[in-house]
Formats: sequence, C-alpha cells, structure tokens
Amino acid sequence: MNRIQIALAIALLTVARPALPDPLSDLRSFSAPLAQLYESNPAQDAQLRIYARSQDFTDPHEELAVVTHELIHIASAAHAGYWVHGTIYEGYGRTYWTGIEAGDVEATAGERDQMAAILNNYWERNPANDLGNVIDELNAYSETGGFVCKYAPARSGRQTGPLLGHLTLANAFLRAFRVRAPQRYAELQANPATRGILGSMVQQSYRTLANCGIRKIGHQEEIKSFMGW
Ligand SMILES: [Zn+2]
Repeated sequence: MNRIQIALAIALLTVARPALPDPLSDLRSFSAPLAQLYESNPAQDAQLRIYARSQDFTDPHEELAVVTHELIHIASAAHAGYWVHGTIYEGYGRTYWTGIEAGDVEATAGERDQMAAILNNYWERNPANDLGNVIDELNAYSETGGFVCKYAPARSGRQTGPLLGHLTLANAFLRAFRVRAPQRYAELQANPATRGILGSMVQQSYRTLANCGIRKIGHQEEIKSFMGW
C-alpha cells in the first residue's frame, strides 16, 4: 500500500470501529444520583462485581446495575433510612414492620405464579424477613431496573421478574397484616412513615415497569385498598 492507501485504511478503520459500551457514562445520563452513589464507593466495586458475575449478570450495563442495586441496600442500611435517588427516607428497620414475618404470609396460586422469580430466594428461604425488606428490594430493583431495560433490553426479564415478584409479595404481606394483625394494619396505615414509603416505592416500581413495557400488573388489590387508591 502507498501512503495514501494506508491513510485511507486507517481512516476507514477509525470509522468502522464499533463504539465500546460505556455503562458508567450511560448511568450518569440515566440518573446522576445513582452514578454518584457508584462513584463514591470505589472500595466496594471489585467485590460487588465478582458477586454480580457469580449470579450470571454478565452484560456490562447489567453488571453495573447489579453493583448499584447492592450499593443502594448498603447505603440504606448505613443511614438506617431508605436511600432513594440520593435522599434518605424514614420507615427503614424492623421496628416499623413488626407483627407479620414472611413465614406468616400466605399467597394465592396466582400470586405464587407472579412471584416465581423470587419465591425461593427471597421468600421461602427467609421466613424472618419483614415488609420492610420487601420495600428495600422494591426500591433497589425499581431504581436500577430501568437502566437495564434501556441499555440491555435482552436482559430486562431478570429485573422485571423480581420487581413484579416483590410487588406481589407486598400485596400478600398486606393481606396477612389485615387478616392476622388488624391492629398493626391500622397502625401501618396511620403512620406517615410506613404508609409514605410503601406508597412511593410501589409507585416507583409501577413507573419502572411501565418504562420496561409492563403496564398490566395483577395481584395488587391489597396494596390499592391499603393505600386507598
Ligand atoms: Zn436486592
């Protein structure tokens, strides 16, 4: 090749090179608070990425979403308040949600179907979990799931499945409170902290699912009647 041909070949190479995925810059445009949460916790990155890959979250955007999901749990625990888009909300901790544990909850056949993605890992294996734990997952999945739906849509089911599952588990929890612990049910309804965080996390979950193309969500009647929607 002469010099002109070489220059031309290099130019073509530059044009033809596919853009490498840059999940962090995409996360910055998706949500500044999420990107900031990620960038302010470099010490946890390596370990959380190993965890993500061990769970077969291997797409680069998905892996970053899973790391950020875990950082949301860690930030919420550290503040003893739900970390939601960089703001800390009340209602976090076992004292708020006493009365019914996961082991007390019964689900209908339809609910069990809609909970398939979380049935074993999050419910049956954790009978001492409370409704506050379910809200923690609603928050983490709904803040990061939309990022996967947008940038790694082929992998979106592993976000929307658990998010739907936790919405369903929340529904079954509220039925258990209403039927088995009516006094506590009334207190959860009357307390602005518990009512507020439950309502806003459910709404945030609905918005994320809508952004992921899921608008019809079954088994939400207990949530609606608890909230008066
Ligand atoms: Zn989680």
